Amino acid sequence: MEVKADLHVHTVYSNDSVITPKELVFYARKRGLTAVAVTDHNQIEGARKIAKETDFLVIPGIEVSSLNGHIVGLNVEELIPRKLSPQETVDRIHQAGGIAVACHPFVLFKGSIGKHVTAKFDAVETINSSAFPFRSSTERANELAERLRLPKVAGTDAHYGPVIGQAYTLIDAEPNVDSVLKAIINGRCQPLGGPISFPLRIQNQFRFFKKYL
Ligand SMILES: [Zn+2]
Ligand SMILES: [Zn+2]
Repeated sequence: MEVKADLHVHTVYSNDSVITPKELVFYARKRGLTAVAVTDHNQIEGARKIAKETDFLVIPGIEVSSLNGHIVGLNVEELIPRKLSPQETVDRIHQAGGIAVACHPFVLFKGSIGKHVTAKFDAVETINSSAFPFRSSTERANELAERLRLPKVAGTDAHYGPVIGQAYTLIDAEPNVDSVLKAIINGRCQPLGGPISFPLRIQNQFRFFKKYL
């Protein structure tokens, strides 16, 4: 069985995203995904609620602002405090039963964690569709994952519905959270997809522009 999952999506519970729970599932299905991870900024309410309310496979998660940059926790249903050291943040994610992903480690202007990633992490997000600059940050994330021998995953970091699924992780797992997590830890996963397409980028910018008119 293969699970096709966008492992990094923000919803309206993130404040900076406009994706409603309904849109999340609508676009995930439309793009042929079989799972999606909700990783709102320092917030777990939305992820918990959405995971319970839909029959689509939603992996509850969080994107924690650690002292040195963002860290995604997958299968985390308790709030991990912000501004802890990366090591402690990873420990807390593990204690909560989750896995820690070094998301967009080399992206500019985004609270990237860069050189603070250690082998204690469970995976590196090598493809992040929202990354800037996409090419060089993807290359550096790949080198990092290889040097630390960590599994590679992908997600869009979508804050706008149509972006969902532009990147995704193919996971050799059964369609349930435990199986997906186990497969990622064991490296039975493959990051695929690319940056947000140009037309979508324009639409996205236009949406922000309209909001401030
Ligand atoms: Zn981030
Ligand atoms: Zn994010």
